[in-house]
Amino acid sequence: MNKFNTIEEYINDKIKTTFCKSFYPSAILTHVDGSTCESIYNVCEKYISENKLQEIYEIRCLDCADILGVYEHYADIPEVSECLKCGEDVRRMNNAIILYKIIR
Ligand SMILES: [Zn+2]
Repeated sequence: MNKFNTIEEYINDKIKTTFCKSFYPSAILTHVDGSTCESIYNVCEKYISENKLQEIYEIRCLDCADILGVYEHYADIPEVSECLKCGEDVRRMNNAIILYKIIR
């Protein structure tokens, strides 16, 4: 597993890796020693303001891990949708996971 010294180093590496379209902020926790959710959020916000990253939302069923959809705006996510695999109610409030999409 690659280790990076800073959050910026990790994100810049992702931006250079052309097959990488987006990443989970939680991945940074394992790749950058000393990083915290707060510091990751702050650095990502900086990249967003520079139009290098965009926040997107993945809706995943927590019962069977099926991905129901990916949305660019939180308001576009249905408040409740039904998982087509297991029939479970999937709620936006509980099941939205933030990812960062790389803008190229
Ligand atoms: Zn399901």
